[in-house]
Amino acid sequence: MLGLAQAAAVLESRLESAAKHEPTYADFLVDLLDAELQVRRERYLKTRLSLAHLPFQKTLRDFDFSFQPSIDERQIRELATLAFVAEAANVIFLGPPGVGKSHLAVALAIEAIHQGIGAYFVSARQLVEDLRRAHAENRLEKRMRVYTSPKLLIIDELGYLTLTPAEASLFFQLVSYRYERGSIILTSNKSFAEWGEVFGDPVIATAILDRLLHHSHLVNIRGESYRLKEKRRAGLYASPPTQLERPLSPPDRRR
Ligand code: ADP
Ligand code: MG
Repeated sequence: MLGLAQAAAVLESRLESAAKHEPTYADFLVDLLDAELQVRRERYLKTRLSLAHLPFQKTLRDFDFSFQPSIDERQIRELATLAFVAEAANVIFLGPPGVGKSHLAVALAIEAIHQGIGAYFVSARQLVEDLRRAHAENRLEKRMRVYTSPKLLIIDELGYLTLTPAEASLFFQLVSYRYERGSIILTSNKSFAEWGEVFGDPVIATAILDRLLHHSHLVNIRGESYRLKEKRRAGLYASPPTQLERPLSPPDRRR
C-alpha cells in the first residue's frame, strides 16, 4: 500500500467504522491518510529530538514564570516564535545556577524542532574537549561540521571551567563560523566582565563577545535557584542563595 504502513494498520478498523457511519469516499481517505501523516510526524519529531542530544525534555509549559520575576515572559514567548533563528541571531541566558537557563534553552530547542528547525545541544566543556581531540587527530574540519551545520546550536554552561588558549581559539573559530550564518543559544553563570577569565585571555573574549552579541537577545536572570526552593521550604536554608556578585555589564570594546 504505497508504503503507508500506518494506514494499512488502521485500514481494517476504519473500514468497519465506515460501514457503520458511511462517510464519503473523500472523507474516508482523508481520515486514513491523516492517521498515516500523524504517525510519520511523530516519528520525524522523535528522530529530530534524539539527534538534538538534549539532556532532558522540558518545555515552556513546564516553566513557572511566576517563580522567576526577573524573566520577561513576553520576551521568552517572542523567542519561542524562533524568529531569531531566521535572522541567525543569538540568545544568551546569564544567571546564577538553578535559575532555569538550561531549562529555557532546552525548551526553545524543542520549539525549534517542532518547527522543523535542526537543533543540537552540547555543553561548553564537551564542545571544547571534542574539538580539541578532533584537532589533535587532524579531523577538526569534519568534526566542526557537527557544530556548524545545525540551524540552532545550544552551548550550555559556559564558565564552569576556564579554557586553555587552544580551546579558546577553537571556540572562537566556531563562533566566527556561525556568525550571521546560524544561531547559538548560550547559557553562562558568568557575567560578560568575567569572560576574560573564562577564556583565559581578554582579547579573545572580546572578539568572541563581539560576534556573539552583534545580533543577540540577552536574558539576564537574577533570582534564586529553583532547585533550592524545595529545600528552603523544608527549612534547610535560612539565607537567600548567592546572586551574581558583580552587576552584568557589556564587554569593554575599546581594547
Ligand atoms: P540552570 O541551567 O540555570 O542552572 P536549570 O535550567 O538546570 O538551571 O534549572 C534547575 C532545575 O530547576 C531544572 O530541573 C529546571 O527544570 C527547574 N526549574 C528552574 N526554574 C524553573 C521554573 N521557573 N519553573 C519550573 N522549573 C524550573
Ligand atoms: Mg544549566
